[in-house]
Amino acid sequence: MISKKMSDMAKNGSAIRAMFEEGKKMAALYGKENVYDFSLGNPNTPPPECVREAAIEILKEENPIFLHGYMSNTGYEDVRDIIAASLNEKHGTQYDRNNLIMTVGAAGSLNVALKTILNPGDEVVLLAPFFGEYKNYISNFDGVSVVVEPDYTAFSINFEDLEKKLTEKTKALIINSPNNPTGAIYPEADLKKLADLLRSKQKEYGHAIYLISDEPYREIVFGGQTVPYLPNFYENTFVGYSYSKSLSLPGERIGYLVIHSEMDEFAETVGAAAVANRILGFVNAPSLFQRVIGRCVNEVSDMTIYRENKEILYKELTAMGYEMVEPQGAFYMFPKSPVADEKVFCEAAKKYHILIVPGSTFACPGYFRLAFCVAKETVLNSLEGFRQLALEFGLTPKN
Ligand code: PLP
Repeated sequence: MISKKMSDMAKNGSAIRAMFEEGKKMAALYGKENVYDFSLGNPNTPPPECVREAAIEILKEENPIFLHGYMSNTGYEDVRDIIAASLNEKHGTQYDRNNLIMTVGAAGSLNVALKTILNPGDEVVLLAPFFGEYKNYISNFDGVSVVVEPDYTAFSINFEDLEKKLTEKTKALIINSPNNPTGAIYPEADLKKLADLLRSKQKEYGHAIYLISDEPYREIVFGGQTVPYLPNFYENTFVGYSYSKSLSLPGERIGYLVIHSEMDEFAETVGAAAVANRILGFVNAPSLFQRVIGRCVNEVSDMTIYRENKEILYKELTAMGYEMVEPQGAFYMFPKSPVADEKVFCEAAKKYHILIVPGSTFACPGYFRLAFCVAKETVLNSLEGFRQLALEFGLTPKN
């Protein structure tokens, strides 16, 4: 007698997770080295040495009763001070500990933000293609997802469709840059335009419209681009940050939520978000890893492998005739499927032991996602399969 909502969710499952499980089965059958699993965004570069050293030192040095005990639902004050100072230096903001709540990864941040602001029936705008879990997070609080059509030319913001989708019921918009699944970084001009548009809609409808900036890939950029910082353009902004990718710690579940000081009803919002963190069952973010972050705040994993993999795949796949917008960050690329029904293509890829995720998982059919956070050999050894697929589906090689 499970709930109707959960029954539907369990049936739909997660296509990405299902593919990951399939990858494990294929690896058992054909050998791990003969399966090219591009399905899951699991970092394959280790955390920087600082993380291990910090964890060991903390376990040795800090009082175990303090270290393993409960704390404020918002997290350790000293750790929040350190993060606030680091953000102020990077982005010219004026944060202090009160702007920050330590969370259980970006997923925790997003759920806390949504629980804080949503009434049942409130609409949350999503820019396709987007991380499929957003819909589930919104549904957790009986919100309604409203999907804006993709901008197929650059995978930035389709303003024409966005304007049509903003209504009196719009409570929030989730934005993710660098983007999963496209690797796009939204240009500053587009973000300023978005901020102006939302400001004018807030005025028109007479209530706040929140921007929720989901930023787990902020540190993974190719070619020296900077990722504009949304709170500098728009007051009603939450930022969901995570160390899952920047420090390769997805299993440790550590991140934070930023609440802009000039947000409407700031103090009330912070108070509500702290309660949300508690009553969602997180209570507080993992203690040991909060303290680790306090010692490794400006560290990042070595991202070389992502850049190298991106360069090989982009060069080789486009030469084979695949069309795509070159990724600027994160560790994903989102090529066009050679056939309209991309599920057919993804199914065919399995013949060559290649696992890729259909674009419909990200509300963008006709495309497929490759997560290239894999070993370089996996990339190199997969190329022959992609070549065979290109031939099978009639792509014309370039050169
Ligand atoms: N947002 C996006 C766009 C993601 O790709 C992911 C994970 O892959 C998350 C949020 C969740 O990240 P976390 O592990 O920090 O909860």
